[in-house]
Amino acid sequence: ATPVGLLTGTGRGAQLGILIKGPQVLEDTRTVDTIVLDKTGTVTTGALSVARLSLLDTAPEGLTDAGLLRLAGSVEAAGEHPIARAIAAAASSGPGTTPVTDFDSAPGGGVRGSVDGRRIVAGRPAWLDENGIDLDDAAYAALRGEQEAGSTAVLVAVDGRAAGIISLQDTVKDGSAAAIARFRSLGLRPVLLTGDNAVVAAHVAEQVGIPAEDVLADVRPQGKVDAVRRFQEQGRTVAMAGDGVNDAAALAQADLGIAMGSGTDVAMEAADLTVMGSDLGQVATAIELSRRTLRTIR
Ligand code: ADP
Ligand code: MG
Repeated sequence: ATPVGLLTGTGRGAQLGILIKGPQVLEDTRTVDTIVLDKTGTVTTGALSVARLSLLDTAPEGLTDAGLLRLAGSVEAAGEHPIARAIAAAASSGPGTTPVTDFDSAPGGGVRGSVDGRRIVAGRPAWLDENGIDLDDAAYAALRGEQEAGSTAVLVAVDGRAAGIISLQDTVKDGSAAAIARFRSLGLRPVLLTGDNAVVAAHVAEQVGIPAEDVLADVRPQGKVDAVRRFQEQGRTVAMAGDGVNDAAALAQADLGIAMGSGTDVAMEAADLTVMGSDLGQVATAIELSRRTLRTIR
């Protein structure tokens, strides 16, 4: 579907940069009682930075930190996720990158490709497993250590062997806590939904005032759809805000799908409403404004 109009009524929607797909969208905002929020890029800036590189004992002989970053960055240069952008940027400004061939990605899982004749797989443990890479206890322990320190940790395999971990740090957007308070005052229950690990998710939730029972972590893209559907089956009317390829199906499943304009085209295509820019407060404004506009129309 393509956007068919700007939020009209007062014309304020256009001024505020809120794009909706049709008049029915306004109707849907009225009954929404739950707002599901993607974490990375929606509640947090998604402007991650590489905080640490660690090599595993199973790494190929002679591999260095810089070599690990160059190989992973070369593959991630073809990726779209905020994680991909961060790793590619760190490689570019450090050891450099070389072109990747046979690139492939699994939304919510990771990436893979060939760099300098070496086979690279990067992502979460399940993605490495799908690619036939064994993770020993030491690899899991190292991964947990990084996560407990609050990092989003990406495993990197080289030529079929677990080689290292790239740890990334994200920050909560300035306006996110205030926006979440506004959702509550609009009568919406905020839920944090993420493919990232539970420790990082809990840390972000605490900063923005979402209680632990409303945090769903380690959720795959299809799991995000199922989570939205479960709420709907409980009789809730669900808005979902997201920015990623991994959010698209859940945005389509939600009663009101909201995309961040700073995010991917795929998310915007799947959503009913897009807010320009990256401020979560815009999402609260969109809901307030459309409710007010509806009152004016009636
Ligand atoms: P979120 O819901 O927070 O936006 P995703 O569902 O997109 O997160 O990703 C979940 C997890 O999958 C990430 O935390 C990471 O471990 C892994 N992942 C996703 N994309 C990539 C990528 N391009 N490179 C490495 N790992 C990735
Ligand atoms: Mg995201």
